[in-house]
Amino acid sequence: MQKVDIAIVGAGMVGLTLAAALANSALRVAVISQAPLAAPIPDQPLLRVSAINQVNQQALAELGVWQRLPDKRVAGYRHMHVWDKDSFGHIHFHASDLSTDNLGYIIENQVLTNALAEQVDSLANVVSIQAGVDKILTGEQETMLMLDNDDVIACQLLVGADGANSMVRRHAGFPITFRDYAHNAIVATVKTAQPHGATARQVFTPQGPLALLPLADPHLCSIVWSQQTARAEALMQQEEQAFAQTLTATINSALGPVTLASERHMFTLTMRYARQWADNGVVIVGDAAHTIHPLAGQGANLGMQDALALAVHLQNLQQQGKNISRHRYLRAFERARKTEAMKMVAAMDGFKHLFEGNNPLKKLVRSSGLAFTNQLPAVKRKLIEQAMGW
Ligand SMILES: Cc1cc2nc3c(=O)[nH]c(=O)nc-3n(C[C@H](O)[C@H](O)[C@H](O)COP(=O)(O)OP(=O)(O)OC[C@H]3O[C@@H](n4cnc5c(N)ncnc54)[C@H](O)[C@@H]3O)c2cc1C
Repeated sequence: MQKVDIAIVGAGMVGLTLAAALANSALRVAVISQAPLAAPIPDQPLLRVSAINQVNQQALAELGVWQRLPDKRVAGYRHMHVWDKDSFGHIHFHASDLSTDNLGYIIENQVLTNALAEQVDSLANVVSIQAGVDKILTGEQETMLMLDNDDVIACQLLVGADGANSMVRRHAGFPITFRDYAHNAIVATVKTAQPHGATARQVFTPQGPLALLPLADPHLCSIVWSQQTARAEALMQQEEQAFAQTLTATINSALGPVTLASERHMFTLTMRYARQWADNGVVIVGDAAHTIHPLAGQGANLGMQDALALAVHLQNLQQQGKNISRHRYLRAFERARKTEAMKMVAAMDGFKHLFEGNNPLKKLVRSSGLAFTNQLPAVKRKLIEQAMGW
């Protein structure tokens, strides 16, 4: 049996960010993951990517993670163009307006996970364990984790960073509010005839948004095409060429003809919000605590902020000689991050609702809203600062 102060179940972007942020603290940490922490990266871009905002980029640089990313797999974007398919409403953002190099970065999830894993492996106070958690036994002073490799981990605090179907959340009995977004997201890599120009594009159609996220290759983009379920299923059924033509038409040929450069994958989109995040001996972060619509690319960003906030909170408690496992001391973290997640859930609901459908009033609001906002530098600045995580 191994004894640690903190056992993190789940080594996705969020669990590993937490482990990395606990570097050099007096806390002993175990990260437990079913899958190997790192995986080989093929030459072709992987399907799952995330837009990482500037605040998290800076945090990852401070943790020594950003420097480990291979340059060729990090795509900074300098411009953002958002428009409404059925109106003249559009808005442009430029990094130069904020005197910054990039508005954000598109990175394959596994590439970022690998860099985080490398950093975590170099930490003296963190041990990584590749195993699934079979059973959790909660005692008054400590929690025991029975692993499927027959090991047992005893910890003061169990952190659930184990994703949307979190076993830790279920074990803790934290209730969730959830709702089917009635959207499915199709992800794929596409090749564009014209270079993407380091611009992240998003078009809102009445059936849902389509994002083209620029990759390091100037002619490759990752798409996230969220559509009402029946329409998404129909798009998945289309032959590759027909799919590419529909895609090209949806973005008004903004980058010339588009062709598929990968297979397509479809994800069901569900809003989940845990109504409790902490109790004695247990806390949850990331997708274990919330899942949101990917239309603004904020899920992982939000989760990484949970992880960073929890790391600071736990180190403060430890330095003050307080018991890190007591709910009364975890409440401040829980309250603060629940509020941020709730605001994000509400914002995504608002965007989705406003940009969906053919209601003439909504059409007017979105077209004039986008056009006005595009003319108002102060409002535009506020919006982009939010997207960058400031
Ligand atoms: C189509 C799409 C596009 C998106 N785009 C963006 C974007 O551009 N920007 C952004 O910020 N977010 C984006 N997101 C959201 C983002 O992908 C998630 O919020 C993020 O991956 C969540 O990370 P996590 O570490 O909390 O969970 P996960 O990535 O789900 O990781 C959980 C880990 O826990 C492990 N695990 C689970 N159960 C156990 C167990 N019992 N024992 C051991 N290990 C276990 C799993 O193997 C996994 O490694 C997008 C989401 C979707 C669906």
